[in-house]
Amino acid sequence: MAKTMAINAGSSSLKWTLYEMPEEKALATGIVERIGLKDSVFTIEYGNDEKYEDVLDIDDHEVAVELLLKQLIELNVLESYDEIEGVGHRVVAGGEIFSESALIDDEVIEQIDSLIELAPLHNPANLTGIKAFKNVLPDITSVAVFDTSFHQTMPAVNYLYSLPYEYYEDYDARKYGAHGTSHQFVAERAAEMLDKPLEDLKIITAHLGNGASITAVENGESVDTSMGFTPLAGVTMGTRTGDIDASLIPYLMEKLELTDVQDMIDIFNNESGLKGISGISSDMRDLEEAEANGDERAEIALRIFEDRVRNYIGQYIVKMEGVDAIVFTAGIGENAPTTRANIMKNFKFMGIELDEELNDVRGVERVISTEDSAAEVLLIPTDEEIMIARDVEYFKNQQANN
Ligand code: ADP
Repeated sequence: MAKTMAINAGSSSLKWTLYEMPEEKALATGIVERIGLKDSVFTIEYGNDEKYEDVLDIDDHEVAVELLLKQLIELNVLESYDEIEGVGHRVVAGGEIFSESALIDDEVIEQIDSLIELAPLHNPANLTGIKAFKNVLPDITSVAVFDTSFHQTMPAVNYLYSLPYEYYEDYDARKYGAHGTSHQFVAERAAEMLDKPLEDLKIITAHLGNGASITAVENGESVDTSMGFTPLAGVTMGTRTGDIDASLIPYLMEKLELTDVQDMIDIFNNESGLKGISGISSDMRDLEEAEANGDERAEIALRIFEDRVRNYIGQYIVKMEGVDAIVFTAGIGENAPTTRANIMKNFKFMGIELDEELNDVRGVERVISTEDSAAEVLLIPTDEEIMIARDVEYFKNQQANN
């Protein structure tokens, strides 16, 4: 049976899902964490809720891949390595080079390498994953799926910053967006749920996880998105600022006595957002609990998050001159009914209304708006991994036909 791996490699982690294709059946999923550090954690979920876990020292991603495959055989998930016919890798930054997924060869590896400046933390890690699989399974179909590709359809009016134009021409300084695979997945699913062609719909997709972004999808294409040159921009996130005034950078650096601007950016990325405002946690569940116990900073953090998400939804309704569907997805979008209700309450005046009972749900796919709501509001669990596996399948079929 043909099997495909969907891979999301971080600097010290390797997340993966193994599919039987084209059936799209998830056979096993897991993560290797703390690669290159002591006591790496190795987890595999498979079969009927079965779980394998081990703690051992794993020096690098290649060792992680070898161990993973060996263990999958031991657990009888795989009979032999030969069953794996394809692997798809999530790559964060595709710049303007990749408006679609790409079959990985030496040139593509060089191109991903050339985009490292656009995602200095992520692209090198993604490349490490790609190379590890290439070394262990050199002959299988290997595909790169970019977080930014879906947004390459944005018009210049939406992707250009109000900076000297040469900075775009000379240095690629523009909006690229992120979470593209997720936005595309839920937009396609929304059209299926509404039983209408995607090409005829105006959809706003709200991917609200630790990282969060909102996208306007018109005729099946991303026309604007809230993340920017990097995933730091847009709405308030778990630990990221979202949009702020750039003048705060020199001002705060002086107050904090920072000399390296990277230290400031690290604070914007890791110490801000819900965590920074609340002083408690970046996790929605902790903040909901703290708010219930009367914590005022948790309360203001939650109201700010809702406000910024709502602002983008409002902006995009105006930009597209209407909306047919608003989709909530990812950890918060799928699991936080109160947050969804608070975000959406301001749209009642436009006739867009949540059904309180339908909205009182977590993690299931369903319409959550009232029957006569002016636009459908949908809850759709995202599945970036299956999108990656589908792209691998596409290239596998192309190779078979050549
Ligand atoms: P990531 O961007 O890391 O993939 P996720 O999509 O997993 O993030 O989303 C993580 C966020 O989802 C966290 O803020 C978490 O608190 C929130 N979340 C997960 N489950 C729930 C829940 N049951 N209720 C409220 N928030 C939840």
